[in-house]
Amino acid sequence: MENWTPIFQRIAGWEQYIRQTGARFRCSLCRRTWPSNKVIVLFHFYLDNNTHEGIVKVRPYRQNCKICTDAPMEEPSFEMHYIEILMENLVKNIRKKCYRDVFDEQPRDYAGVDVDSPHEPEHCEGCIHGVCNRDDQPRPAGRGGARGRGRGYRR
Ligand SMILES: [Zn+2]
Ligand SMILES: [Zn+2]
Repeated sequence: MENWTPIFQRIAGWEQYIRQTGARFRCSLCRRTWPSNKVIVLFHFYLDNNTHEGIVKVRPYRQNCKICTDAPMEEPSFEMHYIEILMENLVKNIRKKCYRDVFDEQPRDYAGVDVDSPHEPEHCEGCIHGVCNRDDQPRPAGRGGARGRGRGYRR
């Protein structure tokens, strides 16, 4: 995966698509794992109208361990099912933006993973960079009660 800074900005000529999904993280220091339903995946894509070749860049936002000090940011690992949903939505978004295809239905939603603790903004790259709540999809039916507990939080 290409290394690029996770800054929320448009690249000239590139389309941008942001999705939120569920994934698991593993701390490389203490080996503990945790699930999250607030995993932001940022896509940048570009279609060259002359060659008809497209490029898609994918950047998942990372999280780090809340127990270890100086824990490094970890990449999420996605179950295949979540990747499939992301790809399905991405392809539709590309067709819409690059090929002007029209779709009536909303992006396909994902079933949330079981989360046992509230989202930790200070350990989430998406929150740090202000993208965590910027997607336009409804929240997954909050199993584990993560929904209510996050309320009232203001950056
Ligand atoms: Zn840790
Ligand atoms: Zn976040």
